[in-house]
Amino acid sequence: MNTLAAIGFGANLGSKVSQIQAARQAVTELPNTVETAFSPLYKTAPHEASGPDYINAVQLIETALSAQTLLGYLQAIELAQGRQRSFRHAPRTLDLDLLLFGDEILCSASLTLPHPRMHERAFVLAPLLDVWPEAFIPGQGAAKELLAQLPPQAVELL
Ligand code: AMP
Repeated sequence: MNTLAAIGFGANLGSKVSQIQAARQAVTELPNTVETAFSPLYKTAPHEASGPDYINAVQLIETALSAQTLLGYLQAIELAQGRQRSFRHAPRTLDLDLLLFGDEILCSASLTLPHPRMHERAFVLAPLLDVWPEAFIPGQGAAKELLAQLPPQAVELL
């Protein structure tokens, strides 16, 4: 059975746009997975962190993979593109977050669904709404309303 999933992309070191593009391609090549949409790229100021601006985007996929297997692939793509986990909120060449996996709600040691901070991040909600205007975050509400309630954040189309 296929599940509609949303993946958040972020990069703020190195060749940010090409890293996002390479990661997008890598996700589309995962087994039993097809891309259904990819948002425009956004330039965003670091949130709860310092360093260069981020490039962010959101991809929608349909996949027959489990959420845990998909997360494992996303982490492998991060590592393959040189991500080093130095410290919390450290600048990163590539960050891939599993935002939504159908309407699944889960809290395991390695995976929380929906992504626990997505509803407070304009750099996630804005590109998500571009590709899925009716997106609903289980346990939180409609993405459109959540974005409207957020304090202003520096998020602009690239
Ligand atoms: P980060 O350093 O922000 O990429 O966080 C990665 C850590 O968050 C890893 O240990 C993951 O297992 C964990 N994690 C929990 N839920 C999620 C999720 N929905 N998407 C990505 N990583 C997650």
